[in-house]
Amino acid sequence: MHAMVLQKIGAALEWTELADPQPGSGEIRVKVSACGVCRTDLHVVDGELPNPKVPIIPGHEIVGRIEMIGAGVEGLRVGERVGIPWLGHTCGICPYCQGGQENLCDHPIFTGFTRDGGFATATIADARFAFPLGEAGGDVSLAPLLCAGLIGWRSLVIAGVGKKLGLYGYGAAAHIVAQVAKWQGRSVFAFTRPGDMATQAFARRLGATWAGGSDEMPPESLDAAIIFATVGDLVPLALKAVRKGGRVVCAGIHMSDIPNFPYRLLWEERQLVSVANLTRQDGIDFLRLAPEIGIVTETTRYPLNQANQALADLRAGRFEGAAVLVP
Ligand SMILES: [Zn+2]
Ligand SMILES: [Zn+2]
Repeated sequence: MHAMVLQKIGAALEWTELADPQPGSGEIRVKVSACGVCRTDLHVVDGELPNPKVPIIPGHEIVGRIEMIGAGVEGLRVGERVGIPWLGHTCGICPYCQGGQENLCDHPIFTGFTRDGGFATATIADARFAFPLGEAGGDVSLAPLLCAGLIGWRSLVIAGVGKKLGLYGYGAAAHIVAQVAKWQGRSVFAFTRPGDMATQAFARRLGATWAGGSDEMPPESLDAAIIFATVGDLVPLALKAVRKGGRVVCAGIHMSDIPNFPYRLLWEERQLVSVANLTRQDGIDFLRLAPEIGIVTETTRYPLNQANQALADLRAGRFEGAAVLVP
């Protein structure tokens, strides 16, 4: 197999030939058809997340087909199309796993971070954490659903049922969440980097009621806001934009420091929460709903060996929607 490997934090990924991995008990080997590029991959490369496995093959928005099945795997077959998300394994016995919060497991394994991921021609996954994807939809367009879609979905659920929803940072996740929110009958208010007229136009094209810079206030008070951007300065701005009792959800795995802000921004029962990882139930719920909603992902394809270019373009905001690597 071939893979784009991170040999050292902060270095460029290296095109590498590796021995074909063999699936152990409970595992599957998947031939990768497409793998989305997520902002978390940048955090991994930049060393912004604690305790990565190095060297590591990044990538956790994997769509592929099962080519080998290890002992004890049930309910999956060779040739079946599956999606492999960020949550690669949980312990099953800690209080969080036992309490229905496996996203907070004390001993998790994360795809493309603490276990090799999908910037490769093949990967190994714990069979219980792979989602059967069926045959509807193309590999490339499905890939961003595996993290941007799933984390976006979990964030949307946690944001509550309010009709007026703000989205800060209009990238891969927001462009999917906006479609779900609209389908649910909500109004979307999109916030981009100040002056990013192209992304504001993109948001309006996907049905946003209003789009503007993150330094602007929306024309009306919001019921909830989700922050996808990694910028802590957005937290007080979002709190200011939500109504009394409104909720602000931080959806990213990493964020720059949140500046001091006056208590009155939190007062009147405004809530500030974060979303971490996903549960398998999130995946089941969202992937069942996605075809019904008719989510259309905007994707930019890169050959697998151009992964460094894809990461650089993501960092610079050079495309709308999501980048997807194709082996
Ligand atoms: Zn656990
Ligand atoms: Zn991700």
